[in-house]
Amino acid sequence: MRESSSPSEEKKQAPEAAALTDVGRVRSSNEDAFGLSVETGVFVVCDGMGGAAAGEVASRMAVDAIIERLCTDSGDLSSAALEAAIQAANRRVYDRAQVNPELHGMGTTLVALVLREGQAWVAHAGDSRAYQLRRGELTRCTQDHSLVEEQVRLGQITQEEADYSPLRNVITRAVGTAPFLMPEIVRLDVESGDLFLLCTDGLTGELSDEHIAAILGQQLDLQSCCERLIGEAKAAGGRDNVTCLLARVP
Ligand code: CA
Repeated sequence: MRESSSPSEEKKQAPEAAALTDVGRVRSSNEDAFGLSVETGVFVVCDGMGGAAAGEVASRMAVDAIIERLCTDSGDLSSAALEAAIQAANRRVYDRAQVNPELHGMGTTLVALVLREGQAWVAHAGDSRAYQLRRGELTRCTQDHSLVEEQVRLGQITQEEADYSPLRNVITRAVGTAPFLMPEIVRLDVESGDLFLLCTDGLTGELSDEHIAAILGQQLDLQSCCERLIGEAKAAGGRDNVTCLLARVP
């Protein structure tokens, strides 16, 4: 999926974006989902979980709920509006899981980026991540809501122990698993040319931040860059579904 800049001159230039998802080399279904509205600068990646097809349902519902809430308006965004959209997505997934026994317990990670008025808002719950690349330097914008990352923060285990822990997939916040959710929301200043990457742990579980930075630094077009990221994650094992979304500030 590729989007070009807005055809209308009087409108502000829209971000350039591309996204791709892949089932990987081991799983039989893809529980990741992504959505984007380039015109209104809204980008979302989710990684669903739950038995049977529940993970797929949760991630798709959450993506659609965020896009629906935020793409009707292209003006200024407040933290409250972004939080309200995430709460609405949470409620929608949670309520659906309550009334359908097959979907009980489903949930999804969520990482959302909104690019507007020279600012970026990043919101997340779970271990899907956002990164920002500026002049070749890659910065992580999110801290995983995962058991091992919290243990690292508390000094209980080292980063290396976390990387190899059998508990590394346990997440501590998710959309849809409880009636209320506390997402983490940050506002970042952006410069023209900044590149944002949203991705699931199927990418970051296979590739180091240095490896990701090297691929992003190859100056490929965004679609080719997504293909390269996913190709290398699969070459490194492809043990999980892999999703990446790239958005460049105009
Ligand atoms: Ca995953």
